[in-house]
Amino acid sequence: MSQIQSLRGMTDLLPDEVHRWNAVENIARKQFGLVGLKEIRTPLLEATELFSRSIGEASDVVGKEMYTFFDRADRSCTLRPEGTASVVRSALQHGLLSQGPQRLWYLGPMFRYERPQAGRQRQFHQLGVEYLGLASSRIDSEVISIAWDLLLSLGLKGLVLEINSLGKAEDRRNYRTCLIEWLQDNFEHLDSDSQKKININPLRILDTKNVDTQKMLKEAPLLINNLCNESLDRFEKVQELLKALEIPFKLNPRLVRGLDYYGHTAFEILSDQLGAQSTVCGGGRYDSLIEELGGADTPAMGFAIGLERLLLILGNSISNDISPDVYFVNKGYQAETNALVLSRKLRAQNISIELDSSGSAFAKQFKRADRSGAKWALVLGDDEVSRGEVFIKRLRNSHDDKSPKQYKISSSDIDQLINFLKDKIKN
Ligand code: ATP
Ligand code: MG
Repeated sequence: MSQIQSLRGMTDLLPDEVHRWNAVENIARKQFGLVGLKEIRTPLLEATELFSRSIGEASDVVGKEMYTFFDRADRSCTLRPEGTASVVRSALQHGLLSQGPQRLWYLGPMFRYERPQAGRQRQFHQLGVEYLGLASSRIDSEVISIAWDLLLSLGLKGLVLEINSLGKAEDRRNYRTCLIEWLQDNFEHLDSDSQKKININPLRILDTKNVDTQKMLKEAPLLINNLCNESLDRFEKVQELLKALEIPFKLNPRLVRGLDYYGHTAFEILSDQLGAQSTVCGGGRYDSLIEELGGADTPAMGFAIGLERLLLILGNSISNDISPDVYFVNKGYQAETNALVLSRKLRAQNISIELDSSGSAFAKQFKRADRSGAKWALVLGDDEVSRGEVFIKRLRNSHDDKSPKQYKISSSDIDQLINFLKDKIKN
């Protein structure tokens, strides 16, 4: 019978990789804990309207990337393509905003029907932060610094932070008029996809992945030249604060971000190691989204990091030690029973144990013990059982190389065994 394969763009994370993901997650948890962020978890499936209303009908995400289907009760459902809309929906639904500003983070899979390639999948993961109910430009720079510091604390080098201001809705309306005029003058040079967007959402054209269109857009009018003084002052302030934080940045007047709900500060963090998919982190201010989704007029700012791309850059430089403390070599009818019972008692004392359950020859079990990465092996054969002992063998050299390589401890004195192992594992 033919074997079933995973769907295109949907990737398995095998045990050898999961420990790298866990290492990233542990560092993120720690960093976010230092900032006092709280974690939120929302469902993978939402009403389609949540995304069409927030991300925008004319965006690529809503227009062609969503996994949308009707459920058994004929409701249109969508696998979430991003986290922000869901976090806002949840905060509104549960009245979190009436308890004051919310500083939240999330991690989980997102779904977009895109052409899979390195750093681009159909199921991918985002690690995101959302600040809801906070308006000042200080927040913009704080949020950017959280993303920046997390990436630095993971040991990443060669990162570039790009920022831009998308101004107020009114600034964008003015810009829209002059951009449409320019685009119409250059209509025949645009790719067909961009041509279709001119009157629906011309700003999205600036976000095109078409290289030729990108080139010609270098001549297009810039949004920054259409910002009112208030927007410009605000943007100045954000830059001043980034300088005070000693976070280097580049101004990118063409940065617009792919989703409709952004205004004022927009930013991306790029890596020089990712080739075409160079953006690891994208974010910005979205002061109109909460009202758009039925809440009161509330400012907000956030970002999302793409974990697959992050792990591509990190390579093997990050890992979580998943070796057990102890590998338990055991063979013989009574020895195997005793080893099972003893393992459970030791695990209850927080000693991690990989119990060999193969019943194979000692030599084979010792080979596996070596491969497991454990520093110590417990050994129990019927000889040890009859002598009432457990044999303990050092598998890896410690800094104290002169200490004996093996020990014998009475199997009836569990406390002595526990203390011995705890002491050795600590060192
Ligand atoms: P891109 O321009 O690369 O398509 P985007 O602007 O659509 O990115 P955002 O919606 O801003 O991406 O999502 C934030 C981050 O999530 C991106 O910077 C990227 O690291 C990651 N990301 C987005 N789409 C994918 C995908 N299909 N596969 C893997 N990672 C992704
Ligand atoms: Mg995209």
